[in-house]
Amino acid sequence: MSSYDYDLFVIGGGSGGVRGARVAASLGKKVAIAEEYRYGGTCVIRGCVPKKLFVYASQFHEHFEDAAGFGWTVGESSFDWKKLVAAKDVEIARLEGLYKKGLAGANAEILETRAELVDAHTVRLLKSGQTVTAKTILIATGGRPNPHAALPGHELCISSNEAFHLEELPKSIVISGGGYIAVEFANIFHGLGVETTLIYRGAEILSRFDEDLRRGLHEAMAAKGIRILCHDTLQKVSKGEDGLILETLNNGTLQADVVMLALGRDPNTEGLGLEAAGVAVDERGAVIVDEYSRTNVENIYALGDVTNRVQLTPVAIHEAMCFIETEYKNNPTRPDYELIPTAVFSQPEIGTVGLSEEEAGKRYSELEVYRAQFRPLKATLSGRAERMIMKLIVDAASRKVVGAHILGHDAGEMAQLLGVTLKAGCTKDDFDRTMALHPTAAEELVTMYAPSYRIRDGKRI
Ligand code: NDP
Repeated sequence: MSSYDYDLFVIGGGSGGVRGARVAASLGKKVAIAEEYRYGGTCVIRGCVPKKLFVYASQFHEHFEDAAGFGWTVGESSFDWKKLVAAKDVEIARLEGLYKKGLAGANAEILETRAELVDAHTVRLLKSGQTVTAKTILIATGGRPNPHAALPGHELCISSNEAFHLEELPKSIVISGGGYIAVEFANIFHGLGVETTLIYRGAEILSRFDEDLRRGLHEAMAAKGIRILCHDTLQKVSKGEDGLILETLNNGTLQADVVMLALGRDPNTEGLGLEAAGVAVDERGAVIVDEYSRTNVENIYALGDVTNRVQLTPVAIHEAMCFIETEYKNNPTRPDYELIPTAVFSQPEIGTVGLSEEEAGKRYSELEVYRAQFRPLKATLSGRAERMIMKLIVDAASRKVVGAHILGHDAGEMAQLLGVTLKAGCTKDDFDRTMALHPTAAEELVTMYAPSYRIRDGKRI
């Protein structure tokens, strides 16, 4: 019999931790999992899921306008922020319950407490003060918004955490950042009728995406009325008579009811007892792991955002499944980070998989770029001035599609399926051989027969 209380102790009840705990328990391991806040973690409680619900809410305004072109007369409409927040909270509570039910069903012990490491095999449960031991420990504590402590007045600002529970919908908001969260929330607030300004330090929003789509999204957001200030940063935030006063580097003084910082996320490792257990972290505080998610301490693993590899829910879940294979199935498995499809739930949406044109240009000597920009069918009657962009990046030598990028409705849904085709190594000829499905926007992906242009040695020819 094991001399430890548990085979596995998981710290953190988010997507990665819950998956690891549930599957290990279902294999007959004695498992406990501790969560200090709410089961479901960032994704379910204050991230992906409630965000997507807010995205839906923010789109109705345009749906009502578009309806007129199809013969509908929509009467007076109004929006109730408190009702949305309450409805979202009900759904989140339901999902949290499902997470717990899954754990309980697998016979994992669910602990509602903060847990900290005492040594490599011992964990202290803060609520009771009790210590327990485990053969293997899995750290899956996730991350939290970077508070940007260097900004004078940062304590007056909110992060995405608070955005889900604002007492009132503000009249105006300034969002600092140009990544996923800043862009998605700028569209949400604007769609709900809030005067929205985005302030970003770089030349163009969404620095890690294909340049073409970044420009396309910027133009579409600006055309809707979202003010985007690039090449600028906040210098100071203070309380004014009527809201907050913001000093910027290049755009003078701004005023807003709410300022939201969306400047990346930090790993949740503070006070976790990593030093006591001998677990090494990097300069940003992220737990350092090897290719199998094992830390420098043999029996301690870490996965998900706390390791600052790829901060995406499905990646944390995949890492958890690889951990199970490695630790409990005698089948060492490395997470596969190649060709992760991803979406920005902006309006219009971005869906993407593989390399951007710029990245591909550095990796391959010759590329064919297939690009279509068109007005989606629905917009012909709605009269909405919107354009979709679709791009396939093809390695000319192998004919493989190495990147696929979409800006427009349902881009995320399409990117998920494109993920399968790119993962399978499909060539442009496979796309050409595929019958179009008419009338859809996605049919453009299989009907772009001639390259729009080529890139040779990184230069467009
Ligand atoms: P991102 O890394 O996407 O973006 C951070 C932004 O903050 C970048 O624009 C960055 O600029 C800017 N920034 C960082 N530090 C500073 C600074 N000191 N001053 C000014 N600007 C700064 O992080 P997010 O916070 O938006 O999201 C966190 C993670 O969560 C994402 O990386 C993503 O993986 C995940 N996520 C995924 C979503 C999805 O799948 N749809 C949705 C939301 C989040 P620069 O680009 O110049 O470095």
